[in-house]
Formats: sequence, C-alpha cells, structure tokens
Amino acid sequence: MKITEKAVPGYERVVFAEDPDSGYRGIIAVHNTTLGPGAGGTRFWNYRSDEEALNDALRLSRGMTYKSALAGLPCGGGKSIILGDNRTTEREKIFRAHGRFVHLLGGLYITAEDVGTSPADMEYVLQETPYVAGLQGKSGDPSPRTARGVFRAMQAAAKFRWGSDDLAGRTVALQGCGHVGFPLAEELHRAGAKLMVTDVDDARVQRAVSECGARAVAPDEIYGVEADILAPCAMGAILNDQTIPRLRVEIVAGAANNQLLETRHGDMLEARGILYAPDYAANAGGIISGGCMEMLGWDEARMLARVDDIYDCLSEIFKISSERKLPTWKAADILAEQRLQIKQESPA
Ligand code: NAD
Repeated sequence: MKITEKAVPGYERVVFAEDPDSGYRGIIAVHNTTLGPGAGGTRFWNYRSDEEALNDALRLSRGMTYKSALAGLPCGGGKSIILGDNRTTEREKIFRAHGRFVHLLGGLYITAEDVGTSPADMEYVLQETPYVAGLQGKSGDPSPRTARGVFRAMQAAAKFRWGSDDLAGRTVALQGCGHVGFPLAEELHRAGAKLMVTDVDDARVQRAVSECGARAVAPDEIYGVEADILAPCAMGAILNDQTIPRLRVEIVAGAANNQLLETRHGDMLEARGILYAPDYAANAGGIISGGCMEMLGWDEARMLARVDDIYDCLSEIFKISSERKLPTWKAADILAEQRLQIKQESPA
C-alpha cells in the first residue's frame, strides 16, 4: 500500500493510501484528538475530483471534532473517504484494504459506517483493525437515538422561544420520513404535536399519514407552510437564499447534516427571527449511542440519558447566543471550542 501525507494547517494528520492490488484509494483526515481519538465514519463516494474528496474529508472531520465535543464524548474528529463507486461487489477487498489503512494510524482514528458503507462492510474492516465501531449486534441502528436527540433539541428550542418545552398542539413541518424522520414523527405524535410531512418517497409519506396522523405536503411546498417548527431530516444545504425567505416557522431543528448552505445563512435565519438549533448539536444522538456503548462500554440507560442531555446542550447554545448577541451557529462553535480549550489546559 502506497501512503502519502499532506500537511494541512489546523489538522493533525491528512493521509492518502493507494493499494494497486485491490484498486483501493482512500483518504483519512484527523482534525483534532484533544478529547480522544478522531472518531468519524467512512464515506464511500464517487467524487468528481480528488480535490473535492479531500475537501469533503477535511470539512467532515472538523465537523466531527465539534459534534463530539458538544456531545460530551471523549472523542476527537476524524473522517475517511473511499474513492470510487459504492455499489461495487468487491467489498471484502476494498474494506480490508481500508482496514489496513485505518490500522496504520495506530488508533488515532476510529471509523464506522457513513454514506455508502454499512455495518457489514465494517466487519471486513474489523478483520484488519480493532479501530472500528458501528458493528452489527453492537449499539445497533443509531437513527432512533438521533430522532430522540432532535426531539430534545426541539423541546429546548421551544422552551427558549415560547417559555415552555411542551410541544403539544405545536405544528411541525417535517422534511424526510426516513430512518430518523419517521421515529421523530412518532415521538412528536405521541407528544401531541401536529405534523405536516413530505418525502420524495410516497410510501414513506403515507406511513407517517396513517400512523402519525400527519398531513402530506409536496416536497417543494414544505418550505412555505405555516408551522411552528421546520424539521429538516432529508439532505443538507436546504437553508439557503431560495428557501429562507419562504419560511413561515419560528424554529428550525432537524437531523440533516450541514443544513446551512453557508454560515451566512445562519445569520439570515437570525435576522428573520427564526431560532436555528445547530444541526451538529441537535443530531448528535447517533454518535452518542455508538460512542457511549461501543467505546465507553456504557449500558443503554446511561447512553439514553446522555442523548436526552442534548436538551441542556442546546439550552446552553441559546443562552450564549442571546447573551453575546451571536447567531446560534456561532454560539455552538464557541461552546465546542471552549470544551476543547478546557481539556487542552488540563490534560489530565
Ligand atoms: P434516510 O435516507 O433514511 O432518510 C432520508 C429521507 O429523506 C428519505 O426518506 C428520502 O426519500 C427523503 N428525501 C430525500 N430527498 C428529499 C427531498 N428533496 N424532499 C423530501 N424528502 C427527501 O436518512 P436518515 O438516516 O433518516 O438521515 C436523515 C438526515 O439526517 C441525513 O441528512 C443524515 O445525514 C442525517 N443524520 C442521520 C443520522 C442517523 O442516525 N441516521 C445521524 C446524524 C445525521
């Protein structure tokens, strides 16, 4: 395996591997390990260029540092990319090569599944290295925990905005009824919230309609519906110049990663008086479940209590934002950086 390394300011390690025997090509970016090993999944994707893949690895690994710091996990931030078509049937060859690459970093980086990879792929990684989480039969599908965390983030946002965290009678516009969106719809329904839902997959919409009493809305209409909360649980970059002027909600809180197209869109939400629950704080339930159960050996009850603490984390972000008159995305970054700083000052 041919290994090369690139010095990137602000990152601890950025390493590239090529394995001619298997056709494997990968990147590992370790952003920061102040709080613990750089934890973050393996994304398997056909990028238009190597530069685009590297940028994604850098952006995602930095995001993991912030997400783990806010979630109170003893993990840093890292991410890996496998370059290529993720529909390949040569999975054993590719993922064992990836496992060898992960192992070369000696535990500085711990991987798991992400877009284009599955728990079954991680079993191949495990054959080459112990530095892998998200395995079959361990902490299980993180999505219901992510949904619970988003629900707690919504409650914290409701408390801050309306003085009560009771969501009964509130209307939530939910985009994406998938692995996270559907259990979130169920929990909101149990809490007495009214739902308007959309998805590009009709069967998923129908399930939310029949099981959660939701009203179906067309995919493009979701941005303009009158509701209390918008919950983006489909793709990223949906908060942008086109959508923000259309919003008729008071809170945005959802699971999707990288909801703001650019950070200035967080400022735009603020200017419109819309309270934004920063995505990487609100959607940390999944990493909390994997991190606490697989890396720390916690039992389920203790892990679930930590997921529920997302409420306190969001409350703290909103407090910093209002005291310092900063947009919430900035307040979240500040809180994460404070946690990294405290640890750097007291390494014991
Ligand atoms: P999923 O693929 O199960 O669900 C996404 C849903 O969005 C699908 O039903 C899909 O049909 C729908 N969708 C796609 N494009 C759409 C559009 N234009 N309009 C409406 N619906 C659309 O994914 P998931 O696991 O539920 O994750 C949802 C989001 O949350 C993703 O952005 C993911 O990165 C993020 N996230 C997930 C987890 C987790 O634990 N699964 C953790 C953190 C963040």
